Amino acid sequence: MSAQKCDLIIYGSSVITQDENRRVIDDGAIAVTGNTISDVGSKAEISKDWAAAETLDAEKSILMPGMINSHTHVPMTLMRGVADDLPLLTWLHDYIFPIEGGLSRELVELGAQLGCAEMIAGGTTAFFDGYMHEDFVGKAVDECGLKAVLGEGFFEFPSPFFKTAQEAWEVIEDLHNKYSSHDRINSSVTPHAVFTTNPDQLAESMELAEKLDVLWQIHCAESVAETKLTLEKFGKRPLELLRDTGLLTARTRIHHCVDVTDAEIDQIRAAGAMTSHNPQSNLKLGSGICPLTKLLDAGICVGLGTDGAASNNDLNMFEEMRTAALLQKGIQQDPTVIPAQQALDLATVNGAKFLGLNDTGSISSGMRADIIAIDMNKVHLKPVYNPLSHVVYCVGAQDVKLTICDGKVLYQDGKHFTADIETISFEAEKAVKWALKRLHK
Ligand SMILES: [Zn+2]
Repeated sequence: MSAQKCDLIIYGSSVITQDENRRVIDDGAIAVTGNTISDVGSKAEISKDWAAAETLDAEKSILMPGMINSHTHVPMTLMRGVADDLPLLTWLHDYIFPIEGGLSRELVELGAQLGCAEMIAGGTTAFFDGYMHEDFVGKAVDECGLKAVLGEGFFEFPSPFFKTAQEAWEVIEDLHNKYSSHDRINSSVTPHAVFTTNPDQLAESMELAEKLDVLWQIHCAESVAETKLTLEKFGKRPLELLRDTGLLTARTRIHHCVDVTDAEIDQIRAAGAMTSHNPQSNLKLGSGICPLTKLLDAGICVGLGTDGAASNNDLNMFEEMRTAALLQKGIQQDPTVIPAQQALDLATVNGAKFLGLNDTGSISSGMRADIIAIDMNKVHLKPVYNPLSHVVYCVGAQDVKLTICDGKVLYQDGKHFTADIETISFEAEKAVKWALKRLHK
């Protein structure tokens, strides 16, 4: 039988498929047609069965699915390192809010371009965002070739961005309509948190999510301090308030879940809601440690996120995987918890479910071609016993040598094809002066 035609074959020293059987294929190859994976197998099989217009020989590389960042505020890259080592409320009120209050659409777009470029170079191909002026984040995502779920955030009305609920709902609906037929972009409804909104507003926003048939995301149970504040304001714990307002549903995505009881974990699972784990942001802000193994053992789908770059301070999913695994081993004094496979699942297959995408997160035929290659020809990665262990415990974002999203090469050997890094970096440095001026007003 003659070979079938495809557009691209990528060869690697191994392929971590993340398919149902979690196959790792030595001397592997992936055939891609358009934006879809046609086949994956050994080099010999793929070379025999497929004839490609183009081949990419990443011979000393691990090929794996692009990673999925389940929680971030991508324009906040502009505030990377503006203030560290401060109590949360001082950090927010004295630094973040004064800068955010003056952000223009252009600066939001610049921050998004910077964050997207960082994610592309670090092997992330999809992310779940929440911020303001999200249509401009969408513009950056559209141009750079990544995938995203966008969320226009809102606080209690009136806020600096929306005077009334009606105004917010219209902006959210406009954002939805703008991208509803886009191949790589979806939208969501995004209340900030229970203590910065009110139950009526939250219930109304869920109705909107149902009407638009989109995901509904919220920061919830991030810290003991949040629980205290919510108890004072509403007489209920954050997750209790969600449950009593009918907001624990299959479309609910809860970011953080640090201060959570066993009963609440059970309610999240029963509702089919999902959570995102953001270990570095939780540690840096002193928020506490999410009971990750409890959530997973309960059967909840948990994604992995970096949160914004002002509280991390990067969008590096390799570090996030490693931190997630090490943290649980440490606090439970049990090195067997969160093994490498489970950590990688958080960043790939679970992330895809968290974003509501059923065609990404693994490398198997019929899935979208969201693929990265890791350069194993580096001294800190020698020798290799187990590619999976390396990806979680050794590899850094800087080791990514190839990023393909939806069949398109976005980054290879240090070169971006969809982002003008020189201009973005120059403008980002300029934004520092603007931000500092706002702080010293
Ligand atoms: Zn966040």
